[in-house]
Amino acid sequence: MATFPLPTIPPRSYQAGSLSFGDERQWQAHAACDLLAPAGTEIYSVEKGKVWYGPRSFFLSGPQHKENGKSVCNADASCIMTYEIAIIHANFIIRYGEVGSGKAKGIEPGAEVSEGQLIGWVGPQSVHTMLHLEMYGNIDDISSLTQETNTQYINFPQTKKNFKRRKDLMNPTDYLFSCILKSNQ
Ligand SMILES: [Zn+2]
Repeated sequence: MATFPLPTIPPRSYQAGSLSFGDERQWQAHAACDLLAPAGTEIYSVEKGKVWYGPRSFFLSGPQHKENGKSVCNADASCIMTYEIAIIHANFIIRYGEVGSGKAKGIEPGAEVSEGQLIGWVGPQSVHTMLHLEMYGNIDDISSLTQETNTQYINFPQTKKNFKRRKDLMNPTDYLFSCILKSNQ
């Protein structure tokens, strides 16, 4: 059994459409499921595991440059830094992305976490707020999860648009669907 990482099921589908894994976005294929929730929503560890890192700077949420997709931040267009926490679970690594900078009790590199433990909160973001959740298959690999130039993936055929992630990237959709809400346990 596994615990859904948010207290409630998101109001919009993460299984299909623009919030889903593999959604072809302007600059890259989406490497995660986006779970919509208000900023400040609690985030739970899906299973027991060990904190790899975080919260650390992840993604600058704000308007993007039309040609290169990089965030454009200036006096007229403010950006908000989001953070990420990575946890090594028994069979996969989860990157809990677009979280806030707040440190939940006991969350530090190397710390053991239990299933359902509070690990952080959904961060403030410029438009929709969400937990951006990525999954990786090789729990022994601690090289960077983001790899801008990688085009080869173990679990997928070559994509039209690159995920810009490590080759052991997994689709977390079915796993998330199988998770049980903490309040129903
Ligand atoms: Zn996302």
